[in-house]
Amino acid sequence: MKFPHLDWVNQDSPYLRQHHQGFSALSFDAELEAAFRRYHADVFLRRMRWALLVAMLLALLFVVLDFINLPEPLRGQILSLRLGVIQPALILAWLATYRRGLRDYLQLIGGAVALLCGLAVAGVIGIARYHAFPLPYEGIILVTVFFYFLAGLRFATAVLCGWLTLVAYLAVEMSIGSAGEALISNALFLALANVIGSVGCYSQEYATRLNFLAHGLLQDLADKDFLTGLLNRRAFTERAARSWRQAQREQRALGVVMMDVDFFKRYNDHYGHAAGDEALRQVARVIGEHARRPLDCTARYGGEEFVGCWYDLNEGQMLAILQDIRSRIEALGLAHVQSDAAAVVTLSIGLAYLTPQPHQSLEDALRLADVALYLAKEQGRNRVVSKKP
Ligand code: GH3
Ligand code: MG
Ligand code: MG
Repeated sequence: MKFPHLDWVNQDSPYLRQHHQGFSALSFDAELEAAFRRYHADVFLRRMRWALLVAMLLALLFVVLDFINLPEPLRGQILSLRLGVIQPALILAWLATYRRGLRDYLQLIGGAVALLCGLAVAGVIGIARYHAFPLPYEGIILVTVFFYFLAGLRFATAVLCGWLTLVAYLAVEMSIGSAGEALISNALFLALANVIGSVGCYSQEYATRLNFLAHGLLQDLADKDFLTGLLNRRAFTERAARSWRQAQREQRALGVVMMDVDFFKRYNDHYGHAAGDEALRQVARVIGEHARRPLDCTARYGGEEFVGCWYDLNEGQMLAILQDIRSRIEALGLAHVQSDAAAVVTLSIGLAYLTPQPHQSLEDALRLADVALYLAKEQGRNRVVSKKP
């Protein structure tokens, strides 16, 4: 499936890039893959919990049936597998779904428990065969279908569990000396259950991955500026407000910054709008590279204006970052013959440097940064001006 009509979306979106690149091998680029695994764990957490509850109930049902139907010593041996291995493993996995710290390991835990249950069911069949008791083998098909469609396992894990269980079943039957048409037919049905499960599980994971990309892309569309790929004004307000609250709580300094490209109207008039767009993209890239920590952010405020917010830097460090942005934009060397500030595209920067107080708001800081920017323009542009409340 393709996402339609996305030419107008910022093509730098990692979600869109991955979508173009494809993921038929069910794997994304490293960073997205890690994010997908967390997403998958979240999405399938409830499913896994319910599946484990259902599995426990079904396993208990088989305990009751075996208790009623099986003769000794078969009954004791099989029940010890059911109650000594399968139930405890299911209960432990179910409890593990409630431990936040184990969230990253749920696939591993789920896979290990699934495999253990598969092997145990093969063992149950083996014990029955050994005592020449006609226990139906179909339970192992149920377990296999469970791996693929209910357990919330990813494709690779489910495939491993399903096919290894098949191998274990064959090994058990052959070691006991079962042979003939019945075994071939049983093996064939179990193999077919694995094929159906593998195909179904593949398409389910493919759809989940597609959903993940669509979800991420939607988030990008909501948060990012189409032209530059920086955050947009709305997303900036949200993130900067978070940094503001944190700085207020911790009484840390915040640098709130307004930036504006110098004589950009003349640039557009002289070089054309397309060249103007490209210049804005390059300016934005430099600005974006200077905010990498979680509580720092930069954004396109609108037109040729950018904003930024930096958390807990001393004033010297803050000014050094802004001077670096300014000088690196000058060093881009984008010719601007109409500018009175320099022969190239330049940026004026206004900094409001403050530790947020209860009576102040982020809007106050932005207004102060705007005043500083105005002063930078007045003093000749292509410079940084700092103001404190
Ligand atoms: P100053 O140095 O005082 O900031 O002068 P200026 O010309 O940069 O300021 P002004 O606000 O008069 O002009 C801003 C110009 O930015 C107007 C418009 O042509 C240009 N602009 C705004 N948004 C875009 C955009 O998305 N793409 C392009 N190419 N140009 C834009
Ligand atoms: Mg301007
Ligand atoms: Mg402007």
